Amino acid sequence: MDPLPDSETGYYLEDGTPYKGGVFEDPKGKPFGEADVECWKCGGSGRWRGRRQCFACKGEKTIEEQVRLYTGPQLEKREKQRLKRREAASAAAKVKEAEIATRYVAFRDENAHIFERAEAHRADKFVAEMLVKAEIWGSLTCAQLDALAECLDRRDRIARIYAESKPVASPGDRIEVEVTCTGSAKWLQKKFRGRGREEMCLTDLVDGEGNAFYAITPNFGMSEGQRAVVKGTVKTHDERPGWHRTQLIRVAVVEVLPALSPEEMRVPEAAPRAAAFVVDEDMLEALAPAA
Ligand SMILES: [Zn+2]
Repeated sequence: MDPLPDSETGYYLEDGTPYKGGVFEDPKGKPFGEADVECWKCGGSGRWRGRRQCFACKGEKTIEEQVRLYTGPQLEKREKQRLKRREAASAAAKVKEAEIATRYVAFRDENAHIFERAEAHRADKFVAEMLVKAEIWGSLTCAQLDALAECLDRRDRIARIYAESKPVASPGDRIEVEVTCTGSAKWLQKKFRGRGREEMCLTDLVDGEGNAFYAITPNFGMSEGQRAVVKGTVKTHDERPGWHRTQLIRVAVVEVLPALSPEEMRVPEAAPRAAAFVVDEDMLEALAPAA
């Protein structure tokens, strides 16, 4: 670039800062100057990969670069163009927003039944996510809608099993109860005391009256369908959406009873209260204690 002859024109940087210094012209006749700009190598941190001094700016954070210069009227014109572009973009966004809103209303109408059920289960993370997505995108895909329906069916099934679950006894009480295991999960975790890991068991149980119990302990576990008379101390009661649970600690098996067959574990579809049921993995997740 060749230096321009001295000129009276006031030049500005792109951000509107008045420019002082040598002015150059590129082959197309556009004015350029030199200015300190944020270092492109380290993003203005002065450090390379967070540690060593940046090689490009020598830790100065800025670097001298050739930058385009603008006259006052040119800057004004650019600003006007920018505003115009922004207006056009926001107008387009508004049109799109209105389109989505219209689609959302129609989609909700078409699927009113499932939306009604979903609203009642907003506490479920997946259900809530689907409701939010539907609103953002105006609709859900068929696969998402199927997954939502499946999830709601599962919720209903759990609700049926525990429809009549009540808190049992009081914290501190030692109780003996006949239970059926509705599901269990095991995982390794760090020991509470001492070093190393231990296997932890989450066991979900239901008694003859449909009351839900659970235990989380390395010392007791049953698997789905197993029945037993157990002794345990009530630690606390909590409430899952729609039903009460009793947490047992220091659980011991008093007597092992004959296990239920898989057929006996099935939930009767319409029965308000089930003596037998089936438990799957997602249900286990739903039954697990809140994190
Ligand atoms: Zn740098």
